[in-house]
Amino acid sequence: MYVMNLKRISNLFLQNIRSRFDKSPRFLSTTVLSTNKYDELYKERYATFQSKKLPKNVNMHGVFAANELDLDEVNVYGFDYDYTIACYKKNLNYLLYNLGRDSLVERFKYPKEIKDLEYVPNYTIRGLHYDIEKGLLLKLDSFLQIQLGTVYRGLTPVPDEEVLRIYRNRIIPVKYVEGDKQIHSNSRKMVQLADLFSVPEMYLLSTVTEFFNRNHIDYHPEILFRDVQNAIGSSHPVMHRIVGDHVREYIKENSNMRRFFERLVSANKKLFLVTNSPFHFVNKGMTYLCGDDWREFFDVIIVQARKPKFFTEQSRPLRIYDEKLNSHTWDRVTKLEKGVIYYEGTVKTLQNLTGWYGHKVLYFGDHPYSDLADVTLEHGWRTGAIINELTHEIETLNNEEFKKNANWLQMLTSLMEDIQDHETFESEEALQKWSKERDEIRMKMKKIFNSQFGSVFRTYHNPTYFSRRLFRFADIYTSQITNLLHYSVKHTFYPRRGVMPHEYLSYFM
Ligand SMILES: [Mg+2]
Repeated sequence: MYVMNLKRISNLFLQNIRSRFDKSPRFLSTTVLSTNKYDELYKERYATFQSKKLPKNVNMHGVFAANELDLDEVNVYGFDYDYTIACYKKNLNYLLYNLGRDSLVERFKYPKEIKDLEYVPNYTIRGLHYDIEKGLLLKLDSFLQIQLGTVYRGLTPVPDEEVLRIYRNRIIPVKYVEGDKQIHSNSRKMVQLADLFSVPEMYLLSTVTEFFNRNHIDYHPEILFRDVQNAIGSSHPVMHRIVGDHVREYIKENSNMRRFFERLVSANKKLFLVTNSPFHFVNKGMTYLCGDDWREFFDVIIVQARKPKFFTEQSRPLRIYDEKLNSHTWDRVTKLEKGVIYYEGTVKTLQNLTGWYGHKVLYFGDHPYSDLADVTLEHGWRTGAIINELTHEIETLNNEEFKKNANWLQMLTSLMEDIQDHETFESEEALQKWSKERDEIRMKMKKIFNSQFGSVFRTYHNPTYFSRRLFRFADIYTSQITNLLHYSVKHTFYPRRGVMPHEYLSYFM
């Protein structure tokens, strides 16, 4: 009976195809192809791919534009400090992880075996989401789709079928990810780990989850998340002291930093620094990077600013920091003076006391939300993002093997597009084979960035959730701030004219 049915269905299918072809003989002659013919098509396409020149390497020190930006219009340059001016070596991840892990055991009374869990570098990437309800770490794309193959419970990958069973869909509702702003901002079930300090934090979260699962210890994912966050967060003062005492071990040297600031000052630009870090820590790093007189470069220095509150709150007094007493003074701040260290305050006060408004200000930060989102959305400042991972991402893009895979993936996909409507058994067979090959190439291309989570910027062909936000809030982005030395202070950055889906296939280039 079952066999009969199958036969009948396939006969019906063939009849259907024949009737379509009968009506359109021209269609028949071009589309009914034997299996061999599909092999021929594949070979032809492959030969075209081999004859194509690979794209030129991407400049590792390039500054890339998401939006047009004319530096000649910018009179004021603002900077965040951590991971914008001061970039840290891998040692810092080990330090933060160890401090957080030990604090979990000592302060939060987690099992003492956790102290034996060591940090593994390059396991996580920034921009991942952690589901505080389900205890999963995963990567989302700009359409809020889960990138299958990047969902982890602890250090264990969750199979695709289980992911689909848990979420019932590959697309996650926006309220689940971002919360319902009309009800409560804390109604979201996911948190995104978007700064570089969160890379060791995510590993700690993953490895403790793994420990609990393997030892069948019941835990609440949200409590674990909050504890790990607090353990790492409360380790920052200790981290500041250790890094301050051993700057060479933790901060990447950058011999161009001083020249970078000198050039801006001699072009009559105003400079300011707004950082969440404390003065003693910033002072040591800046002295290491730019020399004892680093403060001379800046017209305004604000420490412990508590971003993003600094950018969002309406009133919070700006205070003066007394270096000798390591404390603040009670004086009312009515003007901003060069050489004085301020702390807290709001961007409104900064703007009112300096007259630095709108598109004349260009602010650089590494955090797309807490540094860049509000200044661009609320205050119309121009923005630059410093994304250290670009170095690794561009290195990967410049790898010849990767270029070939990317190129062939495109061509194979277009071949599949071309034949998908043939609807014959032979074409279906070819499609299945090619689809398998396509999946293999995509997996290879993902793993070359990071074995677990792939690229910070892409989930296969789509941009990640992280990069969509980045391109929305940053006018320009680059791997390190001193890359700007490769461009004049009057340079205009033009975004590439990207091709929209309904436009021409080529880029005219
Ligand atoms: Mg920062």
